[in-house]
Amino acid sequence: MSQRFADIIIDISHEAIDRTFQYIIPEELEGQIHIGMCVSIPFGRGNSVRKGYVIGLSDKAEIDESKLKSILGVNEKDVEVSGSLIELAAFIKETYGSTMINALSTVMPIRQKVKGLVKKEVRLLIDSEAVFEYIARYEKKRAKAKIRLLNELAEELVIPYELVTGKLNISSATIKAMEKEGVLAVEEEGYYRNVLGCGSGESTKVSKEIPNDEQRQVIDTVVDDFDKGDNRTYLLKGITGSGKTLVYIEIIEHVIRQGKQAIVLIPEIALTYQTVKRFRNRFGDKVTIMNSRLSKGERYDQFERAKNGDVSVMIGPRSALFAPFKNLGIIVIDEEHETTYKSDQPPKYHAREVAIHRAKMCGATVLLGSATPSVESYRKAKDGEYKMLCLNKRARDNATLSRVSVIDMRRELELGNKSMFSNRLKEQISDRLKKGEQTMLFINRRGYAGFVSCRSCGHVFICPHCDVSLTIHDSKTANERLVCHYCGYEQKKPAKCPECGSAFIAGFGVGTQKVEEGVKELFPQAKVLRMDADTTKKKDSHEKILSAFACGEADILIGTQMIVKGHDFPQVTLVGVIAADTTLFESDYRASEKTFDLLTQAAGRAGRGDKAGEVVVQTYKPDHYCITSAAKQDYDMFFEEESAYRKMLSYPPFSHMLAIFMESPTDSMSVELADFIEGMINDNFKIRKIGPCEAGIYKLGDKYRRVIYIKDKDVSNLTAVKDYLEEQLEKTEKFGDCYISFDLDPMRSY
Ligand code: ADP
Ligand code: ZN
Ligand code: ZN
Repeated sequence: MSQRFADIIIDISHEAIDRTFQYIIPEELEGQIHIGMCVSIPFGRGNSVRKGYVIGLSDKAEIDESKLKSILGVNEKDVEVSGSLIELAAFIKETYGSTMINALSTVMPIRQKVKGLVKKEVRLLIDSEAVFEYIARYEKKRAKAKIRLLNELAEELVIPYELVTGKLNISSATIKAMEKEGVLAVEEEGYYRNVLGCGSGESTKVSKEIPNDEQRQVIDTVVDDFDKGDNRTYLLKGITGSGKTLVYIEIIEHVIRQGKQAIVLIPEIALTYQTVKRFRNRFGDKVTIMNSRLSKGERYDQFERAKNGDVSVMIGPRSALFAPFKNLGIIVIDEEHETTYKSDQPPKYHAREVAIHRAKMCGATVLLGSATPSVESYRKAKDGEYKMLCLNKRARDNATLSRVSVIDMRRELELGNKSMFSNRLKEQISDRLKKGEQTMLFINRRGYAGFVSCRSCGHVFICPHCDVSLTIHDSKTANERLVCHYCGYEQKKPAKCPECGSAFIAGFGVGTQKVEEGVKELFPQAKVLRMDADTTKKKDSHEKILSAFACGEADILIGTQMIVKGHDFPQVTLVGVIAADTTLFESDYRASEKTFDLLTQAAGRAGRGDKAGEVVVQTYKPDHYCITSAAKQDYDMFFEEESAYRKMLSYPPFSHMLAIFMESPTDSMSVELADFIEGMINDNFKIRKIGPCEAGIYKLGDKYRRVIYIKDKDVSNLTAVKDYLEEQLEKTEKFGDCYISFDLDPMRSY
């Protein structure tokens, strides 16, 4: 007997209807409805037509059948979701807390079908004898255009339509007429939007790299387990330049040979031409990418190609994790410590955890890689939950780790050096300029400077919508203005201080623009490139700056975080870190980890070619364990110190943590809401709690923000609090204008 009822999730993001509704499958749709389909249904009292996703089928009505409504039809324009992705959505919903429809849209980054592209071609249908007959016939009628086309077709057989109407200058009416005569056919062939340029056999094809012994060992371990059907999660800890990418490629090649597919997650910022090219060289057209710069149609096509088995390797940031491969064999997560793997929007899922879950569901392997693994993953690898793999040598012959000097900037000041560059850094830059080698200067901030204030009375310029100070942009130009980095508010830089009337208004601190000015002052002959949020607003500008630098068009590249992630510039022999400790002062328990990662990655940029590199780290905190361990490039030393600190304060990975974040339209409402939630936690649970307290930025975009953190070793105790609060808040009308969100094991501070 066929199943006559469908359980449907309605496509509305509303807590109150976050459950399935049963509908009748009408006779005319019998046998046509299956799980994952998008359908139209009548919903609510007014029976307005809504979209919904079928997530279950049954042959029994849950309630009186006469009360059930019928499905109206199938929405052909919407993408279907596969059964296993529905299961993954359910996992995301339960673990991170969101509505089912939000979780479904997460696992379906593309939900609308986009019309495919078609190639039109004209094909000859008749044999050469008939061609002569037709030409004779056309000559009688003086049909010159027809003769011209037939002659061309006799040689080519198939000609692109545009060429016929364009270069051959033949009207579409003529083509139609000849089609009617049965001489030719106009064919349309669908093809996918190409996102990686043409062909795999580019002239840049390089000789295949042979893994060294260390790499071989890692590859063999994973491949042997894979062949045994032993699907695990591995942590590959490999120093910068140790050749992790080649390891990924070799393993993926093996997986593909077994008829399976691979997903490679890399942070969006590192998804550059360089990385993609290495995969392209090995896998040709079997590889494709996904990223936010692609158009909707391009993204849709790449997912379709994955579904149809047209590609076997999908590279991309977080959302590539949901590529609808039918026979997934491996998920690689490069730079697994990156905070961008955690979603900012609800559901606030972590790609690593979701990847491990997806892999478990389909019997796939997970390979995590990093030079600076997250404290969580390293802990798990040490405990044996993940299998640990190591690469301790740089892969290229002669390439060694760079020398690191830590410069105490307080001492520089004592010696009378008031500039932002230490004497050591100045010497080294000028030495590189002489030798024609390249330098990278890394600064952990963007914009021109930190906050803007009046140097006479100390008045600080604050955003009218947020509790943050404004920042100067495009200083000393006609476009000079004050900008809020949080909400985008802008104003012209005032000529006078509104408090005291002084004209001496300036920014404090160092930013990329200021470093650029400083470099130009000291080394007017140097060719300088700058890469930060301001210079990379345009599509492709990111790529342009990097490739210009790679081609040697500049001596010095100045930039923020963007320049230190995963790029390989063999000519760089000096890396200067201008202000190493700016991230150390953030109110975030991960501040040290972030700083250590950045310093290690920055140091990893120097000396990747044949020449040795040097790294100059300028800091005001030369004794902090995070700086000293980064200077030694000693991850284990950092890990031990950091673990001791986190254990003492019960931070992840020694405990789970849930951030309960509250946003209210007024100050008083914000206090009330926090009291209400705190009361409910105190009355019903015994759990460690921090707060409520004001968020790091209390007022943002005219909203007032508070946060409560709760901690527990057992994640289900935190989930219980979340579920209870959600249930209670739904019943309380008072806080209807407030917004509450949950963040499990947050990667950011609130
Ligand atoms: P990681 O990602 O570990 O920092 P990469 O994968 O970028 O390192 O590799 C660093 C450099 O070493 C690259 O230029 C790469 O082409 C080169 N390389 C990697 N493995 C080998 C090998 N076995 N033989 C020669 N060169 C290699
Ligand atoms: Zn003033
Ligand atoms: Zn603002």
